[in-house]
Amino acid sequence: MHYDYQTVVVTYEDEGIGSEVEYTFEQLFMPARIPFSTVCISTQNDGPPISVPIVIHYGQEVPLFGQEHTIHIRDSTRFWRLYENQAPLPWICASRLGETPVVVPPDDGADLYVCRSGQLTSTNADIVASSFALLSRYEEIRPAHLDAFDRFPAEASAAKREGFLQRPVVNEYIDLLYSMLAPFVEIRPVDWEGAPFCLCLTHDIDEVKLFRNCRRVLSSIYRSFARRWNPTDPIGVAADCCGVLAGVRKDPHDDVEMLIGIEREYGISATYFFMAGETSKRYDGRYKISEQGQLLRAILDAGGEVGLHGSFDSYLRHEVLLGERRRLEDVLGAPVRGNRQHYLRWETPATWAAIEAAGFEYDSTLGYASTPGFRSGICYPYRPFDVTRRRQLDLWEIPLIAMDASLLGCQGCSPDEAANWMYCLVDAVRRHRGIAVLLWHSGVFYERENPGVLRAYRGLLERITALSPYSATLEDALMHWIGRLQPPIAGGA
Ligand SMILES: [Zn+2]
Repeated sequence: MHYDYQTVVVTYEDEGIGSEVEYTFEQLFMPARIPFSTVCISTQNDGPPISVPIVIHYGQEVPLFGQEHTIHIRDSTRFWRLYENQAPLPWICASRLGETPVVVPPDDGADLYVCRSGQLTSTNADIVASSFALLSRYEEIRPAHLDAFDRFPAEASAAKREGFLQRPVVNEYIDLLYSMLAPFVEIRPVDWEGAPFCLCLTHDIDEVKLFRNCRRVLSSIYRSFARRWNPTDPIGVAADCCGVLAGVRKDPHDDVEMLIGIEREYGISATYFFMAGETSKRYDGRYKISEQGQLLRAILDAGGEVGLHGSFDSYLRHEVLLGERRRLEDVLGAPVRGNRQHYLRWETPATWAAIEAAGFEYDSTLGYASTPGFRSGICYPYRPFDVTRRRQLDLWEIPLIAMDASLLGCQGCSPDEAANWMYCLVDAVRRHRGIAVLLWHSGVFYERENPGVLRAYRGLLERITALSPYSATLEDALMHWIGRLQPPIAGGA
């Protein structure tokens, strides 16, 4: 067998987890484009050839192959046994390696270490199983309870419970792995054409009209009053409603053109997710996609992207998602590559499988509805893994980092607090040269319902653009990411 000099050889002992080991190292090596091969040493006892300069061994024992240097990552046999039986994880408490939480602790419960002596660097921090568990969302399989919208709640996650949801810990594992490899392998930093990170601003278009029926008008009047208990606000809403009905002013939720204008001002592009189907009378159907052709074209003309906002009950039904994608493409007159689920409804891994079967190239749903942060522990695009069928999906996940509704609604933040929180998360992404995916809904900027939100949003864009990000639509960011992977990462032995 021939290996390139630069190829890292990954050996592992448990032949039952070959596809999981290969998958995980592919995700870990992808950012620096490190070519690698995997060899199971239980079936190939002679190990890799001596000419290989660096071997990463993932297993219990330190092997002696005679290569220049070995990195030994001790595996958690307990985790992989549970996984092979599709058993739930008994999350006790993540161990810490320095500041970094390691979600799969060592079998013997020992303190975590990394040590280097001579030709061996070794650690008992199982960053491979930990990365796999976080990226595949293994803890979400057969959850004990769901929230009111049948979603796995942030509160049930190890990250929220143990206080590391605001840290992209898989990125920290990648940094640790690269620091061990750096003396032997060229580590190519993630490059965004000279920019320090990538900003992907996104908007879910749940509605385009506030004053579409009496119930909605009354609820808006109530909400405007409830915000500040100021009687002039509901009177203002009623006056705006009359103005809209008389045709002398624009509906305050018809704000996509305003958003395009703001993006042009700051020199950034955005992805707009539109709904193109109705699977719930209560939560969908607030506009007809067939009537939005002009708006969709305006988005494309401005350099934006249009994606599908999969309807409320589409998240387990690939045929529904496919129908919605085709309907949206008919109106748009161009292919639709990306999806985000309405209400962030999600079931792991079935929703990934449905989105893949509906022919999408990427999804950007994976964040929690109630709390912003790093649900998958990563701020890079990655390939999802279906843990029930034990296969990598032909799809990319570009994780959602923060949503307006989580902060302004669930967390009860003021507009300025929401903007500050988002800025802190963007800064965490910047430190890892990742992609900051932010979500601001259409309609949230109506001053009488949500005073101060538009000002805080502008202030946030001002602060983020001062960091000089590479601003792109999700589609363009993904193309850039895939483009920089060329030539493709080698995998398999
Ligand atoms: Zn939505």
